[in-house]
Amino acid sequence: MAKKKDSDKLYCSFCGRSDHEVELMLPGVNGCICNDCAERAVEISREYLNKMSRSKLSDLDMDSLPKPDEIKAYLDEYVIGQETAKRYLAVAVYNHYKRLNQHRDDDIDIEKSNIIIVGPTGTGKTLLAKTIARMLKVPFAIVDATVLTEAGYVGEDIESLLTRLLAACDYNVAEAERGIVFIDEIDKIARKGDNPSITRDVSGEGVQQGLLKLLEGSVVNVPPQGGRKHPEQKMIAVDTKNILFICGGAFEGIERKIAQRLNTHVVGFGAGNHVSKADRDKLLHFVAPQDLRSYGLIPEIIGRLPILTNLEPLDRDALLRILTEPKNAIVRQYKKLLEMDGVELVIEDDVLGFIVDKAIEFKLGARGLRSLFETIMIDVMYQAPSMKKKRYVLTREFAEQQLSKSNFEMISEVS
Ligand code: ADP
Repeated sequence: MAKKKDSDKLYCSFCGRSDHEVELMLPGVNGCICNDCAERAVEISREYLNKMSRSKLSDLDMDSLPKPDEIKAYLDEYVIGQETAKRYLAVAVYNHYKRLNQHRDDDIDIEKSNIIIVGPTGTGKTLLAKTIARMLKVPFAIVDATVLTEAGYVGEDIESLLTRLLAACDYNVAEAERGIVFIDEIDKIARKGDNPSITRDVSGEGVQQGLLKLLEGSVVNVPPQGGRKHPEQKMIAVDTKNILFICGGAFEGIERKIAQRLNTHVVGFGAGNHVSKADRDKLLHFVAPQDLRSYGLIPEIIGRLPILTNLEPLDRDALLRILTEPKNAIVRQYKKLLEMDGVELVIEDDVLGFIVDKAIEFKLGARGLRSLFETIMIDVMYQAPSMKKKRYVLTREFAEQQLSKSNFEMISEVS
């Protein structure tokens, strides 16, 4: 029982304070614990468990791990096209497993190969990252580089990148130390302008310098709740040596840097020489580390991201496939939704082509396919549960009507 020093007061069995002196007293069978001691107990047990699991982290069983072709086959089920990037990712993940399995006494130290993926927005960078996360045997986190700022400025400290990773493995530091982090929108921390010293560049070079520390591999103090560091907050030390970093960014306008390097011209750059959009898209194939440098990434960061690959812009055919082929394709999802109301959805042949053409016309890309479909289907979805019919046929005429009724063009221009 909790000691009753006087009257009905409860006393913490650990620090001896009474319930009047603490915020919360939790009674147990034979005693009590106050909120402060409970918090401390959680910290101590977490540290202990981490230490234990660090010493007994099991090797990943290479035989049961998916091979690169299996990883790619899995990605194929959800992501259309992007063959090169899928291959690079599959190999990088597989090699990551191998590194983690390498014996400490080996004299060949396999270095990690962080990746950078360059690709127009809405072509599948995040989708690739999320899909791969589902099949990984190590902790994985997706973080956005845009929220980061250098220590001392408004925004999140760079170390908070690792907070997500810690959260993904229930704050097991040893597990997090072998995880994979996907940093999205890395291009947003590119140095603006060529001379960084005129004004202090809050979101640019300073952040890159901070990030470099993480990419290189060092022990960093991570705020457990993310955000800014508070002096009173207890930090968690994480060694990033074995953490694999995959970075993605749209690098809008990088074609110009590539063209400059290749000594050709793109539209709007140099009069007279007219290069078609198709040619401009192809330029991305030739993206090289120098182009990232001219875009504003510091050479040290580029050096720490040795694998550079690109995503293809999505053409009409790819957009059509996206509507129907992936395991959770939009069309499949809507068919499922209506099936749950006992209604079979039949889509006439020319409807999907119409939707894709609208997505292209409004420059919405793959991201717009869902909102177009949603707009077209809203009335059907509204009526389906009370519909007597067991079959609904979606025609192009109806799709056109729905879009013009909703002023989709205007809505999509505003948003
Ligand atoms: P980003 O390259 O900007 O990270 P996302 O991966 O977020 O783009 O893509 C936005 C949406 O577009 C995805 O959720 C998905 O529905 C669709 N999409 C984009 N690219 C593809 C692709 N290659 N295959 C299948 N769906 C895609």
